[in-house]
Amino acid sequence: NLSEKLQRSFKNLRGEGTISDENISEALREIRLALLESDVNLAVVDELIEHIRTRAVGSQVATALSPTEQIVKIVHDELVNVLGRDTARFKFSSQPPSVILMAGLQGSGKTTTTAKLAQWLKKGGHRPMLVSVDVYRPAAREQLKVVAQSISAQLYEGHLDVKGAGTDEVLRLAREAKREAANYGCDILIVDTAGRNHIDAELMDEMAALKKLLNPSEILFVADAMTGQDAVNSAKAFNDHLTITGAILTKMDGDARGGAALSIRHVTGAPIKFLGTGEKPDAFEAFHPDRIVGRIMGHGDIATLLERAEERLDKGKAEQFAKKALTGDGFTLEDFRDQLRQIKKMGSMKSILKMLPSVGPFAGMSKAVENVDEGQFNRVENIINSMTAKERADHELINGSRRKRIAAGSGTTVQDVNNLLRQYAQMRKMFKTMGSGGGIKAQQRMLS
Ligand code: GDP
Ligand code: MG
Repeated sequence: NLSEKLQRSFKNLRGEGTISDENISEALREIRLALLESDVNLAVVDELIEHIRTRAVGSQVATALSPTEQIVKIVHDELVNVLGRDTARFKFSSQPPSVILMAGLQGSGKTTTTAKLAQWLKKGGHRPMLVSVDVYRPAAREQLKVVAQSISAQLYEGHLDVKGAGTDEVLRLAREAKREAANYGCDILIVDTAGRNHIDAELMDEMAALKKLLNPSEILFVADAMTGQDAVNSAKAFNDHLTITGAILTKMDGDARGGAALSIRHVTGAPIKFLGTGEKPDAFEAFHPDRIVGRIMGHGDIATLLERAEERLDKGKAEQFAKKALTGDGFTLEDFRDQLRQIKKMGSMKSILKMLPSVGPFAGMSKAVENVDEGQFNRVENIINSMTAKERADHELINGSRRKRIAAGSGTTVQDVNNLLRQYAQMRKMFKTMGSGGGIKAQQRMLS
């Protein structure tokens, strides 16, 4: 994967203080290949590589990062940049029902995704109605009916004029469905459309007519991630004709490499909004750029590399903390909470423990993993959150009645609050002895 390749190409870079045009060119070649192998579109790759080169060349190698780590971080950032930093928002029209028009080729996952989306919207408190306007294939309409039933979503069936299968019929069904959605108090209408196995003018004209009639707030292009470059080409065609508002990548549970996400975003300018990760209606998630980038770069490695980098970058903060804590009374409940948050940022306790090798001194750890109480962290943080800033700065203020208030505020018991305060007192004592007895050595212990 990409991270491994980078590691290799950077072996000879060690010890050099700056990244130069020469020592980076081999790495860039590797990055280029890896991106192409991940199905990222050629034009996108070339643009990315130029961005990476510009940022990397001449950049001082930060003391906290090795050149490899720095390049990995730059590549990671640039990929995330292409995808857009944030999870895209979903648009609704001010006048219900909002219409969501599903677009895409046959087999891309439109009907399945229509149900997934309906379920997702229902969970968010919406009342979606579904309609299939695929008048050409009765089986396709039947398929939507079955999935709509399985998630108890409203469906507009309508009646088909068997002789009149054509765009007029499509538009009639769509018009009726929108009216019906309004009558039923449904705030959203999701329109599952007919697919073709290739782009043709007829299909595009029909989609354009639907757009004109329904004035949808979202036109979502559904793409099969396994089809790589083809998905990118059809995304472009649909976008040229319809101006899509977003894309959904399906079949991400397979071994699709995810590069299509980058290309579709780059080529259409529309954000990826969701991923489909299985056949069931709940195999659906909001899109997070980070995850796809992780997939392209090679999960484990990039995560570890970035974590290590981040950890070291936070070293200044950690040193500050140690100094404060070790001087005795400096360690407040506020600091305690900060530390908890730092730990939480690294992931769940389980996932951290799982990264430890399962041999040698850690052999018994797998049992411990099962017994970890993830809720404990949150409880402790909730308790500290329920304190006033004054109480956090001076724990001695926290008398019996305050303990009661804090317990009530954090949804815990007075005993939980007492336990926390006891733990905190122990930590203070420990820091104090470390500070006076161990001096510098103790400090190093804390930081390692
Ligand atoms: P449509 O022709 O665009 O409406 O596509 P369908 O919704 O009928 O889906 C085509 C096939 O892909 C079906 O067998 C689906 O079960 C399957 N499918 C759709 N989305 C996903 C997904 O996210 N993961 C997997 N594994 N299969 C999917
Ligand atoms: Mg379908």
